[in-house]
Amino acid sequence: MSEIQKTLSIIKPDAVERNLSEEIKSIFKKNGFEIIDEKKIKITKEEAEKFYLVHQSKPFYNELCSYLSSGPIIVMVLSKENAIIANRQLMGSTNPNDAEEGTIREKYGLSIDKNSVHGSDSIENAKKEIEFFFSN
Ligand code: UDP
Ligand code: MG
Repeated sequence: MSEIQKTLSIIKPDAVERNLSEEIKSIFKKNGFEIIDEKKIKITKEEAEKFYLVHQSKPFYNELCSYLSSGPIIVMVLSKENAIIANRQLMGSTNPNDAEEGTIREKYGLSIDKNSVHGSDSIENAKKEIEFFFSN
């Protein structure tokens, strides 16, 4: 089944810092995604902890939240047919060393933590994550 979906994408601090935002946005557009909302923000560690609450019990939680709040990020709502899975495919594996040729993380990711982009992993999480950043 295919349907037009929305998903949340984040260009993480490592990529914003290296001025890769425009290049990454153009990759999304080239791959048929429409950027229907976007903003550049810097979040607090407390906000990062809330956003990544599903990872609360993981050993990397604290560092992950420090990292996501360490510098400006670009949060975007992307839209496309089957956007959630399509974005996950375009991003590549969490660890850039395992990411498939041509994926964003393979191209730009520095390490398993500084992997340049975030993308929602399910319809339910996409909805929650879009609301988290774009509910005003
Ligand atoms: N992460 C990390 N160490 C790990 C696994 C994940 O630092 O061993 C970070 C990484 O930045 C990743 C984020 O935690 O993007 C969320 O992890 P998840 O497993 O949800 O990966 P993703 O959905 O981002 O591919
Ligand atoms: Mg995830």
